[in-house]
Amino acid sequence: METASQLLDRLTADAARSGQPGRTRHIALGEGVIDALPAWLDAQHPGRIDVIVADANTYAAAGKRVEAALEGGGRFTTHLVLDPRPGEDTLTCETGVIEALRTFLVASDRFNAIAVGSGTVSDIVKRACSELERPCQVVPTAASMNGYTSGIVAVLAGGVKRTWPCRQAEAIFADIDVIRHAPAVMNQAGFGDLLSKPYSHADWLLSHLVRGVSYSDEAARLLDEAWRQMIARAEGIGRGEAEATRVLMETILVSGFSMAIAGSSAPASGGEHLISHYWDMEEHCQDRPVRALHGTQVGIGTLVSGRLIERLVGLEASEIDPDAAAARRPDPSWIDAIDADHPLLTPEVIAEVKAQLRDKQLHADALRDELARVRDAWPEIRERLRASLVPPDEVAAALHAAGATSRASAIGVDRPHFERTIRVCRHIRSRYVALDLIDDLGLLERWTPEIVTSMEGPAR
Ligand SMILES: [Zn+2]
Repeated sequence: METASQLLDRLTADAARSGQPGRTRHIALGEGVIDALPAWLDAQHPGRIDVIVADANTYAAAGKRVEAALEGGGRFTTHLVLDPRPGEDTLTCETGVIEALRTFLVASDRFNAIAVGSGTVSDIVKRACSELERPCQVVPTAASMNGYTSGIVAVLAGGVKRTWPCRQAEAIFADIDVIRHAPAVMNQAGFGDLLSKPYSHADWLLSHLVRGVSYSDEAARLLDEAWRQMIARAEGIGRGEAEATRVLMETILVSGFSMAIAGSSAPASGGEHLISHYWDMEEHCQDRPVRALHGTQVGIGTLVSGRLIERLVGLEASEIDPDAAAARRPDPSWIDAIDADHPLLTPEVIAEVKAQLRDKQLHADALRDELARVRDAWPEIRERLRASLVPPDEVAAALHAAGATSRASAIGVDRPHFERTIRVCRHIRSRYVALDLIDDLGLLERWTPEIVTSMEGPAR
């Protein structure tokens, strides 16, 4: 069995051999690897001016150290500390800041951008450099999410969280000395983000089996072994132990590659991500900072997805009633009236949500036909989904062992709000997931309160 580090070596060597721009062809992972940055850059990009791009926190956490290493290595170096938007405390990856960075970088062909930060900073740099068709390198400051090696970025555009394509970062220098000293909540969030894998995989496989969405067994399997290694180190990750942090970061880097190979976020993002994105969209629409880190929210969403999918695969084919579903959804007119389901979203964002929902939602005969096919193939679909699942109790135990929160109430989402989120978050993206099938079967409404009770305790 190939270890995660052998796997990363193979993937980067393949990328290097291909000579294609926009693929991650070098990964340095370990304690003190920042010191290796100047020599690598000298070999790859001689005579360039390195622009360290960071926010105030990540500049203090690692930017200065990167700058000192580069200057010590004789590189021309400058830095650009990105500010949050007026009135906000934290930086957001949105179209304005990407544009601003692009404008800065385009001023000189000699500029070489190095992202020093976590998801927000690396997404901004990856996207801006992709638009300029230039390479970039990333020095992660936390193991907080799995996008460092991915070919996509999460951008806030027009109030909606969107996934946009980008080039992969050319090189990643993941210094465990830096990452293990990140705030514990950040590395716990990365752990939560990755936890979703069995269920996001189930969502992806389901969309393949029901809707014919393209599916790659290689991308799906890539993470299996690394994921098991990571789960076994949950406690050490919570405590910031060096070896456990290294394993978490390695898994994060493999996960990003799995998305790059699949050409979408599907291997690592399913219904649980919709829950997190939904909460972010609500807060953005209300001009408030997001409730918690992406991965913290995904960890909570993962327990929802896990319990819903566990119930879904428990269904018998005889419980799938295509006629009843078609009668419940005779036409799309109900989509015009979903505004009340989204009280915290703005009208512009709701209009976009409706378009996403219309894109995937079937009605009447089309819905009946799809569900009849699902019913007839159900024994096979169910077995294939089951093969990739992990009991949600095991995942909940891992989340607890890492010290991460598993309750929506802990991030200020009360019970009615949590129930509403589970019922309607599927509206926001046109990608088909288990939440869609469960809702088409008329079961989402019924199962939601029970799921919430299992996570938050009985309603008072
Ligand atoms: Zn994620």
